[in-house]
Amino acid sequence: MPTTKTPLLNLVAQYQSIQPEINAAIQRVLDSGHFILGDEVASLENEVAEYLGAAHGIGVASGTDALILALRALEIGPGDEVIIPAYTFFATAGAVLHVGARPVLVDIDPHTYCIDVEKMQAAISPVTKAVIPVHLYGHPAEMDAINAIAEEHGLKVIEDNAQAFGAEYKGRKTGALGDVGCLSFFPSKNLGGYGDGGMLVTDDPALADKLRMLRTHGWQRKYFPEILGYNSRLDALQGAILRVKLPHLDAWNDRRRELAATYHERLSGLAGLTTPYEAPDTRHVYHLYVLQLSQRDQLKGALKAAGIATGVYYPQPLHLTRPCHDLDYQEGAFPITEKASRETLAIPIYPEMTSAQVEMVAKTIKEVAV
Ligand SMILES: *Cc1c(COP(=O)(O)O)cnc(C)c1O
Repeated sequence: MPTTKTPLLNLVAQYQSIQPEINAAIQRVLDSGHFILGDEVASLENEVAEYLGAAHGIGVASGTDALILALRALEIGPGDEVIIPAYTFFATAGAVLHVGARPVLVDIDPHTYCIDVEKMQAAISPVTKAVIPVHLYGHPAEMDAINAIAEEHGLKVIEDNAQAFGAEYKGRKTGALGDVGCLSFFPSKNLGGYGDGGMLVTDDPALADKLRMLRTHGWQRKYFPEILGYNSRLDALQGAILRVKLPHLDAWNDRRRELAATYHERLSGLAGLTTPYEAPDTRHVYHLYVLQLSQRDQLKGALKAAGIATGVYYPQPLHLTRPCHDLDYQEGAFPITEKASRETLAIPIYPEMTSAQVEMVAKTIKEVAV
């Protein structure tokens, strides 16, 4: 087995680039003796909300919990339908299943990998309550069209912004474009903590209050629960760490875009291989840099032999996952999604990647791509 010389991402290199600031932030929390929510998390909530252009931020235990709490706060449950793309990380569907609602899957746009808006409109039924657009890989979904359709049909818009922190749609940050936005601070995300974490952002003060209750056992006044809530809170260490990282995010995303531009220059035009698309009026933040080609598994193997890590996001479309079996979708139901799951391949991209590394990966792909 060859050792991997070029990883998909390198969290140690990022830590080393900001080590003194991170260590000081961790020490500050240890010295404070305050480990759950508190000032660090409240400050992060304000800083994230301001960065995204939203009024309120509510720190929670993970991006998955953010989705579940958003659905609960909007009172979506049994008997309700929620439209989601068939091609996304499982958590988008899992959250809908957890609240007892039915995920109604919709195929994706073949260029952006985000929900196909016409098919979304066609999937609306009298019991549809919400839609969850996912800004997959860091590319914004078509939010103007989605919001317009949602408004016309009285649907709530919950953005799954887990992969797109810092992305922009028509000059505005994704995550702050719908009724509520869900963020993940999973370590590999563009803004990642050193453990699990997530946040919700919204402009609606009543929704923000309800989300704050839901994350702490459904109470406002301690020990007097008013609704059935959860224990889903962001911890102070993550808050402090993320506060160090947030001011670096734009530079990190700029660097991701630079690396993506190099890949694009070197790889676009190779026969049989599609490089990522960036729609006009959007700022893609390349959480992942994803190629599409029919010989995906061959390329994956050849790159592995050359010491270059790759990933498949995602090898199984949602409708073919076991927890979705009861939804009764058949293979063939979502052809664009199914093709993407067979043909997409993520190659290394992370802000600390050097120009020499990106050139080497591109050169290797050109040599081995069939
Ligand atoms: C990572 C991710 C989530 C879940 O976030 P966690 O913090 O890992 O729970 C949800 N949706 C998408 C699209 C993701 O990529």
